Amino acid sequence: MKIAILSQKASLYSTRRLKEAGEQRGHHMKVIDYLRCYMNIASHRPTVVYQQKPLEDFDAIIPRIGASKTFYGTAVVRQFEMMGVFTANESQAISRSRDKLRCLQLLAREGIGLPVTGFANSTKDIEGLIEIVGGAPLVIKLLEGTQGIGVVLAETTQAAKSVIEAFRGLDANILVQEFIKEAEGADIRCFVVGDKVVASMKRQSEPGEFRSNLHRGGTAEKIKLTPEERSTAVRAAKTMGLKVAGVDILRSNHGPVVIEVNSSPGLEGIEAASNVDVASKIIEFIEKNSAPKKTRDRTQY
Ligand code: ADP
Ligand code: MG
Repeated sequence: MKIAILSQKASLYSTRRLKEAGEQRGHHMKVIDYLRCYMNIASHRPTVVYQQKPLEDFDAIIPRIGASKTFYGTAVVRQFEMMGVFTANESQAISRSRDKLRCLQLLAREGIGLPVTGFANSTKDIEGLIEIVGGAPLVIKLLEGTQGIGVVLAETTQAAKSVIEAFRGLDANILVQEFIKEAEGADIRCFVVGDKVVASMKRQSEPGEFRSNLHRGGTAEKIKLTPEERSTAVRAAKTMGLKVAGVDILRSNHGPVVIEVNSSPGLEGIEAASNVDVASKIIEFIEKNSAPKKTRDRTQY
């Protein structure tokens, strides 16, 4: 097969591993910088042009769209979809998952476990918002943050009010969430491919920090999931319409709660911690599912 990896840099670990895994399985792999793709939208034959040449006869694409490039990246993915090319994740599903509030609303509708979460537009409603999540301590999150940046723990109601007012004063969209203290600074990353969790890891924050992101100094290790955690992760990915997803779960007193579903989950941490060749799992999934015209987003909203 001829498979394109849409990525800003060929040297990124995940990109390299996907290329390597595809080549090992006998495929023709090409890394394409989606920011340098341009498109012919008006024509009856939609095309994507890269380095002055139309990109033709690709059987599948693997989008690795950076969080800050969602708008343009998903437009490129959509164009490939219009050309009938199979994509590991569809454009709509990527956009959907990038908005934390939208993501939580969809998961809630499916009855998937979540931390109690509140959202409001006006700072006049702060007190009600704090009440919804059961008061301090609580977590405040920027709607489009990643890597733990923009996630704040407010230990007192007074601190919560100040932080919410400050964020809203900057016109930032935030959500307010029940603090899952019993998770003790750990979260679980479940790597879902198709309808299976193919690898998982537990990330533990540094002492004195509640955010377990590896970018915030967290460390990763292998973990055995409970059947409930497995099914929660698979259902969460499915709800978002994602075929490749990193589902982040906290172990709470009321069972597993999903905090985030990532559409371009990194491979480096998870491959090292779990010892699973996740890149090959993604390529195998594409081999099995990429019959032409099979790309179709079935999730509404
Ligand atoms: P980001 O997209 O920036 O990674 P997350 O929502 O994943 O934001 O939060 C970052 C980290 O903060 C999580 O990995 C987790 O360790 C911790 N965390 C997030 N939400 C909560 C919560 N409600 N209760 C306890 N810890 C949380
Ligand atoms: Mg996270």
